[in-house]
Amino acid sequence: MEYYSAKIGALIDELARLPGIGTKSAQRMAFHIVGLPETQVKHLADVLVDARKNVKYCKCCCTLTDADICPICDNPKRDHKTIMVVETTRDLAAYEKTGKYDGVYHVLHGAISPMLGIGPNDIRLKELMVRLADVDEVIVATNPSLEGEATAMYISKLIKPSGIKVTRIASGVPVGGDLECIDEVTLLRALEGRTEL
Ligand code: ZN
Repeated sequence: MEYYSAKIGALIDELARLPGIGTKSAQRMAFHIVGLPETQVKHLADVLVDARKNVKYCKCCCTLTDADICPICDNPKRDHKTIMVVETTRDLAAYEKTGKYDGVYHVLHGAISPMLGIGPNDIRLKELMVRLADVDEVIVATNPSLEGEATAMYISKLIKPSGIKVTRIASGVPVGGDLECIDEVTLLRALEGRTEL
C-alpha cells in the first residue's frame, strides 16, 4: 500500500479486513469515504460505534437485537410453539424476508464442527434446551453443509427423547450453500418440504 499516503493506506487496510471486502473494493470505499463531507463520515462512524455498543443477544432466542427481548419473541401473534433453529441472525432475516413463517426462532451463532474444534458447548444450544417446555415442533434449519448436518443430527438426538417433533428443512438447497444467499422461493420450498428427523 506504499503508493498511497499512510492515512489512506490505513483506511484501506482496515476496510479490507471486513468479510467479503477485497482490496479493490476497500480501495473504492476508502476513496469514496475521504471524498465525503466530514459530517457524513462522522455520522457513519457514530452509527458503527452505536451498533457495536447497543446490539446484544435476545434473552430468549439469542438473535442480535437492541432490546432484552427481540421483537419476534415479544410478538404474541407469533406461534411460540414452533421454534426454527438457524445458525446466524442473517439466516433468520432470510426466513423473515419470505414473510411466510410465523413461528419463532433460535439462533445458534455457529454450528458444530469437529474440524474447527467447535463443540456443542460453543454454540447456543443450552439456551435452546431451556425453551422446550411448551413447544410442539423444532424445525432445524441449519445450513446444508457438513457442519449444519452434524448440528441437525445432534439436536435431533438431544430433543427427540422429550417427545417433541423435530424436523429438518428439505435440502432443495445446494450442499454447502449458504442459507442467506438462497432465494425466497427455495427457502419456502425447503420449509414446506421439511421431514421428521
Ligand atoms: Zn428473540
